[in-house]
Amino acid sequence: MPGPRHPGRARRRGGVGVRDGTIVVAGASLAGLRGAEGVRARGFSGRLILVGDEPHLPYDRPPLSKHVLTGEIAPGATTLPGVGALRAEWRLGTPALGLDRAGRALLLGSGERLPFDRLLIATGARARPWREPEEAALPGVHTLRGRDDAAALAAGLAARPGRVLILGAGFIGCEAASGIRALGLPVTVADPAPAPLAGALGQVIGGFVAGRMEAAGVDLRMGTEVTRLEGEAGRVRRAHLAGGGTVEADLVVVALGAVRNTGWLAGSGLRADEGGLSCDGACRALDEAGRPDEAVFAAGDVARFPHPLYGGRPVALEHWGNAVAQAAHAARAMIDGPDRVESYAELPAFWSSQFGLTIKSLGLADGADAVAIVQGSPRTGRFLAVYGHEGRTVAAVSVNAGRWLPAYEAPIREAAPFPPIAGGADQPSPAPVPPGLPPR
Ligand SMILES: Cc1cc2nc3c(=O)[nH]c(=O)nc-3n(C[C@H](O)[C@H](O)[C@H](O)COP(=O)(O)OP(=O)(O)OC[C@H]3O[C@@H](n4cnc5c(N)ncnc54)[C@H](O)[C@@H]3O)c2cc1C
Repeated sequence: MPGPRHPGRARRRGGVGVRDGTIVVAGASLAGLRGAEGVRARGFSGRLILVGDEPHLPYDRPPLSKHVLTGEIAPGATTLPGVGALRAEWRLGTPALGLDRAGRALLLGSGERLPFDRLLIATGARARPWREPEEAALPGVHTLRGRDDAAALAAGLAARPGRVLILGAGFIGCEAASGIRALGLPVTVADPAPAPLAGALGQVIGGFVAGRMEAAGVDLRMGTEVTRLEGEAGRVRRAHLAGGGTVEADLVVVALGAVRNTGWLAGSGLRADEGGLSCDGACRALDEAGRPDEAVFAAGDVARFPHPLYGGRPVALEHWGNAVAQAAHAARAMIDGPDRVESYAELPAFWSSQFGLTIKSLGLADGADAVAIVQGSPRTGRFLAVYGHEGRTVAAVSVNAGRWLPAYEAPIREAAPFPPIAGGADQPSPAPVPPGLPPR
């Protein structure tokens, strides 16, 4: 983390020094915690208040769809490291309901009006619910975003349902399928897409993952749309499919992606919708006219920012590493000043583990027009694929080959020619093919 140019000099804004006054953080999870730690690390000595609608101290979400489902980790054992050491006040179990930008105050569900000098918005995202509220409310229908969701789902699985149906073959759906199969329960996964993970990684990698899922005993129904969930005797019993036919299931996991938590910003004059809260490269929130608010910053899943590596197009990521890096960036901008930070340009990166596979990714594959397997081979279950767009390298994905991935960071950052010269003895001439990604 580069230091401030004049670390000893606390500049003053509106009569309040950048290292004193009040900083409020809306959203007490990964980005909120790391942002709060970041401002303290840069010498902020004023009042620091974290507001969270969940009753819990910040905890980690990736284990929820992995080790928590299989019972290896208790839901309550996921609290993030660093929570205890943070000098801060907490307002937990109370949502931020509104933002008075002119009055510089956050309005809480408890009725409290929390004045701030600077605000970090880190309200993340929530699971997209099943479209029919009555069906979504049937006992046995679950989503998976928070610790309480995971605890409820784990309890439902402990009752040994006859069959679990997972709606959606994205990362959360596939990870849940993996954990539930590991428990020995019958699992059906249904998704209208042609292959699992196709939305993020395309059909080439998705097809490989499909083979692993089927080998693990998953009843995989790709190209299948569920139209209706039906209850019986007070709980979910079956799902109806678009082409006719049903799937009997007494537990359903709705894994249809995420929606950004921006509804509470309605009327604030900030540019926000279900796709995110727009901000600039210094993490300052933008108003409806596209002007940055000097006192309001955003980080993590909720933030939609122009990515310099992708032509400045606005992206909103759902990656753990982005929440950490962007929160640190926002903290630097809040304390050192927005004009003293480079435009946020962290290379997108995430990982997933499922069906004995560790999938790691660098860059953004969406919009790629070609993919080439440049090292290893799907036959051996260990390979690295590089994605290209108009002859330039844009992303790389490793499957059980994480050690090979860092070598592709520079080609992605530099938009090096695609296909890259791999030089791997086992894959001397990579042949690009269409990646099978949906249109952006
Ligand atoms: C099950 C699961 C598994 C995942 N696995 C991986 C993985 O393997 N690899 C990876 O890279 N990423 C993974 N992720 C994504 C990663 O966890 C997220 O990118 C990360 O949690 C984002 O952090 P955040 O703080 O921005 O948002 P969140 O973690 O969503 O936190 C936002 C917080 O704000 C709260 N909030 C919302 N609205 C309000 C309000 N109005 N007032 C107050 N509080 C509010 C929310 O309840 C929540 O506590 C996974 C996510 C999930 C859900």
